[in-house]
Amino acid sequence: MKKLVLFDIDGTIMNTDGGGASSCQMALETVFGKKVPLDNYSMSGKTDTQIVLDLMDRVGVSRDETTRKLDEINVLYIDHLSKEVDTWDPELCPGIVDVLDALIARDDLVLGLLTGNIVRGAEVKLNRVGLWHYFKTGAFGDRAPERKMLPDIAQKIAQELTGKLFEGKDIVIIGDTPNDVLCGQHLGVKAVAVATGGYDRESLRAYNPDFLFEDLSHTDEAVEAIMA
Ligand SMILES: [Mg+2]
Repeated sequence: MKKLVLFDIDGTIMNTDGGGASSCQMALETVFGKKVPLDNYSMSGKTDTQIVLDLMDRVGVSRDETTRKLDEINVLYIDHLSKEVDTWDPELCPGIVDVLDALIARDDLVLGLLTGNIVRGAEVKLNRVGLWHYFKTGAFGDRAPERKMLPDIAQKIAQELTGKLFEGKDIVIIGDTPNDVLCGQHLGVKAVAVATGGYDRESLRAYNPDFLFEDLSHTDEAVEAIMA
């Protein structure tokens, strides 16, 4: 096992109509019994826990109170999301399935997720496009208020799974936002940025990813970069 390869979901694997924002809003409004506006808040690159804490902070609910209600919020969120995904016409990012097929056929890597979604949310979203079964491991947004906590979690879980400690550039994080590029810096990971989400190439370039792609439609190039 040479590499631990970790994909973000929203904007990297798939683009959806709203990504579950309205399910999140409905869950929060039910649990707290007040209006929770989403305007002028960018969810991209943030973890679900971070989003929930931020949104409730904006309407005067303390982090402690929100944290105490996280389980209740998440149950309702998944309830709504499971229905919301049926209304989506999700778009897979260009080339993603071919790249995943090429990677899963190899025996020298572990394929996983590194996503701000809570685990059940990731499962619901990826099942909607038939891709959940590709991933053996992952770090998720449950109880992680910052994305930079996720690479350490992924490293630890992968070690438990394989017995190998993946380090430095053998951990590969593929994502569409500055937060994806920056989150593994402290571990010296390899960051592969793709401009298939909310950020174009030029804005991602400013964060110095190891590799930068418009999209993953050139399968060989993408796999070569990931395995380099
Ligand atoms: Mg993303």
